Amino acid sequence: MYQYTQVKEQPVLNAGTKGVRRYILSLDNHVSIQEALTAFCKEKEIYCGKVTGLGAVNSATFRFLDPATLQYVDKTFEEQMEITNLTGNISQKDNQVYLHIHITASRRDYTCIGGHLLDARINGACELFVEDYYLTSAGRRADEETGLNMYKF
Ligand code: FE
Repeated sequence: MYQYTQVKEQPVLNAGTKGVRRYILSLDNHVSIQEALTAFCKEKEIYCGKVTGLGAVNSATFRFLDPATLQYVDKTFEEQMEITNLTGNISQKDNQVYLHIHITASRRDYTCIGGHLLDARINGACELFVEDYYLTSAGRRADEETGLNMYKF
């Protein structure tokens, strides 16, 4: 039904735990979230972790996977939106940083759209919290049944 790996942390006397590096990241205006976050993960060598955040974008491309046909449907929205939530994970596939990000974004009329994020362009701010589980590893493998790149521990 599932597989899992425990996040490795080690107690350090009077100093919390070891195994997690935490960053607060602010992306520059007009950059691609995918590009900037990938670059940051490469710089810090983050291959297992978590990202959460918020911000504002003027373009976002979502990907929907139809489970019946295993066909991807991509759709781009070119309008100003607030990222009301960004949740994602960082892993490794073919020795590269692999990001899996979902967002919910609110439009001018306060309705929301959301889904699996391919990429988005910042127009305003984008503030992310990144956790690097540097003692833990998480890979990916292509899964035929679902059409997804599933975790491989
Ligand atoms: Fe997804």
